[in-house]
Amino acid sequence: MKNLIPIQQWFPEFETEIPLISGPCSAESELQLMQTAAELAKTDLPLVFRAGVWKPRTKPGSFEGSGLKALKWLEKVKSEFGFRIGIEVATDEHVLMAMDHGIDILWIGARTSVNPFSVQEIADVLASNPEQAVMVKNPINPDLNLWIGAMQRIAGAGISKIAAIHRGFSTWEKSSFRNPPMWELPIELKRQFPNLDIFCDPSHICGVRDTLSYVSQKALDLSMSGLMLESHTNPDDAWTDAKQQVTPTDLQTLINNLQVRKNQSDGSFSVPLAELRTEIDAIDVDILKKIQQRMGIVDKIGEYKKEHNIAILQVNRWDEIVSDRMAIGNKMGLDKNFMKVFLEQIHKASISRQTSILNNESASENV
Ligand code: PEP
Ligand code: MN
Repeated sequence: MKNLIPIQQWFPEFETEIPLISGPCSAESELQLMQTAAELAKTDLPLVFRAGVWKPRTKPGSFEGSGLKALKWLEKVKSEFGFRIGIEVATDEHVLMAMDHGIDILWIGARTSVNPFSVQEIADVLASNPEQAVMVKNPINPDLNLWIGAMQRIAGAGISKIAAIHRGFSTWEKSSFRNPPMWELPIELKRQFPNLDIFCDPSHICGVRDTLSYVSQKALDLSMSGLMLESHTNPDDAWTDAKQQVTPTDLQTLINNLQVRKNQSDGSFSVPLAELRTEIDAIDVDILKKIQQRMGIVDKIGEYKKEHNIAILQVNRWDEIVSDRMAIGNKMGLDKNFMKVFLEQIHKASISRQTSILNNESASENV
């Protein structure tokens, strides 16, 4: 991916401190689009208007987009309000229809960027229009190379207006995010491709409204290039993604409350401290999850000891653990004293949980 054109040179709307793409998740009707566009126009936020024309739904039987007629509504939005338009495309036919209707940004969604065949099919038709601006959302699974590969396919078609969109990653594990951001992935992407602009899509990361500003601020702190945020004239009644969409007025408040940090939008992630802290945050969560997993096993052993009338403290076993872990830690260059205190604390907490089990108390009371 060489010769990428920075987003500021794509359209004047992006020559701002916070380049913004906003509009409803789905194009539901002409009225809904026109009302949302009118309210967005009133905010005076420079933005590219988005709306989903073809909606990839997890299960069949729900609204899958308005298709071709929505492209006509979007032409009207463009001519009446002067907004440039961005939509998701998933097939070569979508690309051809979208280009036919003067769509300014085509983005490849998370369920499409995951499939190299689909991305290649899209790249092949894009080759006829090298001026087209294209954004590539991360694949639903946290596979950086798949994301990079999708963008390389688009670049291979001769497109130079390419940007990435970070929308978080699907997970089976319970999370307070709809799609956990796993910030280390966009950070690594930026490290490998410093000239690539990366937008953040807090709407699909959060899945709900109340964390949108936190994630948007985090994206700015990491010097991401812009934001994609879903907005709707009447979010609660939206046909798709109702919980995460905001009114245009709330969008304006959210954007106005964001702090733009120094050196942002110079084409590089320029806040190394924020990057490193993000990595630390993720590692801390991993450590806690592992400790939680370990305590779960400690509890099972506690139940077994109780059932079989075995003493909780098994000194031999503990001595074995300490010398084994100290040797591993030593090889890793970890401080001996730290290892000792750390292991002792874990042991203490484990004994305490098993004692609670023996006495039929809630384990957390003792830890
Ligand atoms: C969308 O932007 O409405 C969308 C479907 O997003 P994603 O591909 O990130 O799920
Ligand atoms: Mn959506």
